[in-house]
Amino acid sequence: MLGEGILKGMAETAKNFFLSYVSKERLTTVEYPEERIPAVEAARVFPFLVYDGADWQAGMRCVACQICEKECPPKCIYIEKSKDKKPDFAGKPQFYPTRFDIDVSVCMSCQICVEVCPFEAIKMDNEFELATGDRFGGLLYDRHQLARSNEYYHSVHPTEASEVDARLAAEKAKVEAKSKTAAQAAAAKAAAPAPPAGGGR
Ligand code: SF4
Ligand code: SF4
Repeated sequence: MLGEGILKGMAETAKNFFLSYVSKERLTTVEYPEERIPAVEAARVFPFLVYDGADWQAGMRCVACQICEKECPPKCIYIEKSKDKKPDFAGKPQFYPTRFDIDVSVCMSCQICVEVCPFEAIKMDNEFELATGDRFGGLLYDRHQLARSNEYYHSVHPTEASEVDARLAAEKAKVEAKSKTAAQAAAAKAAAPAPPAGGGR
């Protein structure tokens, strides 16, 4: 019949229109900001810096290697490396950033900084309500503003954060086993009887 396709299409549209008032799956309008839908785990907005423990400075994972700064396509990361070192999650002395700024007015949320970081130190946040009247200073976040606890990381990306924890725990166990073996070897050497005086030639 001529126009049958059009009638079928109109019927489908009408069905969807009326069902959108009663069917939960079809209620696609979210009355933001009163109503919010939870962010999906893969959502990403701008990066944050992960720290372990309660002290953001002591626990910051970043070792100021500056790989992310070099790889960031729009060059919106600014890092200054410390002169001294502090222990990392495994107790190894590492440099840390005395300055770590991200200009989020320039950041394009590409996640390259996250992908190139060998220390699981930078991750993507899903926070998007960042409006400010200060176009420049208000969007240049320093290391304190960027710092988020590992617990926070778990709350936004639970699957990924658990995998990272497992990897870091395995790495820590390896470092501890290595230093234990070295300590045992040193103790065995110290306990070995000294060679007789005047021995040799
Ligand atoms: S998400 Fe991309 S643009 Fe933003 S800081 Fe990281 S590398 Fe740079
Ligand atoms: S966030 Fe990662 S890649 Fe960037 S400086 Fe810190 S440790 Fe290096």
